[in-house]
Amino acid sequence: NGQHPSGKADRGLQITGLVATYGKSVAVSSLDLEIAGSEFVTLLGPSGCGKTTTLRCVAGLHTPTGGEIRLGGRRVYGDSVNVPPNKRDINMVFQSYAVWPHMTTLENVMYGLRAQKMDRAKARRKARTMLELVGLGDFEKRHATDLSGGQQQRVALARALATEPGLVLMDEPLSNLDAQLRARMRDEVRQLQKSTGTTVLYVTHDQSEALSMSDRVVVMRQGVIQQIGDPWSLYHRPANGFVANFVGEANVARGTVTEVGERTFTVSLPSLGAGTVFDVAISASEQPPGTGQAVSIVFRPEWVSVADDEQEEAVSRAGRNEVRATLLSSEFLGSHFERTYRAGEHELRVQAVTGPTSLPRQAGSEQILLITPDNLTWFVPESSAGGS
Ligand code: ATP
Repeated sequence: NGQHPSGKADRGLQITGLVATYGKSVAVSSLDLEIAGSEFVTLLGPSGCGKTTTLRCVAGLHTPTGGEIRLGGRRVYGDSVNVPPNKRDINMVFQSYAVWPHMTTLENVMYGLRAQKMDRAKARRKARTMLELVGLGDFEKRHATDLSGGQQQRVALARALATEPGLVLMDEPLSNLDAQLRARMRDEVRQLQKSTGTTVLYVTHDQSEALSMSDRVVVMRQGVIQQIGDPWSLYHRPANGFVANFVGEANVARGTVTEVGERTFTVSLPSLGAGTVFDVAISASEQPPGTGQAVSIVFRPEWVSVADDEQEEAVSRAGRNEVRATLLSSEFLGSHFERTYRAGEHELRVQAVTGPTSLPRQAGSEQILLITPDNLTWFVPESSAGGS
C-alpha cells in the first residue's frame, strides 16, 4: 500500500481469461487472477495442473492462446500486444539456483542494476544492502558457485529483488533444499518480500509451503482454478472435495439438510451409519443451505474427538454429532495417534491426542467419535460425480 521503495503507483498483476495450450492440449483454461501490489500469491496444485505454464505466460516465455495480462496497469499481453520478456519489469527465481558462476556474489546482485544503467558506486551500495538483507553480507567476494545451495538461492533472491521489479515470479525456489533449510527459508523469503514490498507470484505443489508463506493461495487442478483464498479460509472453508483433500487431510461425507435454524443447520448423513445426524454451525459470513439441499460435510482429522469411557456412557445411542465407528488401524506418532476408522460407507481419518494415562485401543474396537457443530464445514457438491 504505497510502501514500495520505488514508490510505483499502479502496481500489481491482472490476468483475465488466460488460455494456454500446447498443440491441442489445454494447459490453462480461462484463468482470471488479480494480484495487488506487495501481495504474495501462490499457485498451488498437483504436478501438471498448469502452474508453471501460467507463470511462463506472465513472464512472456510462453505465448498464450487467449486472454489478457496487465502488469502495473500496463497491458503486456493481449489484443495484439505481446511485450517481450526483458521489457516486462519482471524477475524470476527458479528451482535450480541459476547464479552466474564466473561472477562473485556481489557482481551477481549488481548485474541487473548495472544493466539498468545505475552508476557503479550506487549499484554496489544497493547490492550490498540486498546481500545484508539475505544474510550474506560477509560473502560478497565469494564466487557464487563456492556457496551452499541455500546461499546460492539467497543470492538469486537478492538479485531478483534488487532492481525492484514490478513483479517477481518464483517457481518452486525451495524444492532443491533439504527439509530443514527449506522450512527456514520459507520464513526468510516471506520476510524479505514484506520488507521490500515486492509483489510475488509463487508456484509450489507443497501445501504447507503455500499456507505458511502466502497472503492468498490459488488452488489449481487441470488448468482450472478451484478456489482462491487466504490460507485460513482455504483450510477451514474448502470450496470442494478437491481443495479439501489437497490442502490438508479431510473427511468428506454427503448428506441432506433436514432443518435450518439461526445458528446451526441439521444434516442427515446415513452414509456414516444409519441415523447419523450432525448439527453444523452457520458462520456469520455465509449463506446457509436450504432445507432439502444436498451438502458435503467436511471435518479434518484433528477436529474429531474420540469419546472416552465416561463420555461413552453419557452419550445416547442416536445422539447428534456422534459417529459409531470401528477402529481399523492406529499409528502412534508421539504427540498423537493417526487412526483410521470405518463408519458406514466411509473410512475416516482421525487424529487422537494422547496423554500419559491414555490406553492404546485395539483394532476392531468400537468407539464413538464426537464432532462439535463448530468443527464442521460444508460445501455444495457438484451435481456430477466426483464431488462426494
Ligand atoms: P509441475 O508441478 O510438474 O511443474 P505444473 O502445474 O507446473 O506441473 P505445467 O508444467 O504448467 O504444470 O503443465 C501443464 C500441462 O501442460 C501438463 O499437462 C503438461 O504435460 C503440459 N505441458 C507442459 N509443458 C509442455 C510442453 N513444452 N509441451 C507439451 N505439453 C506441455
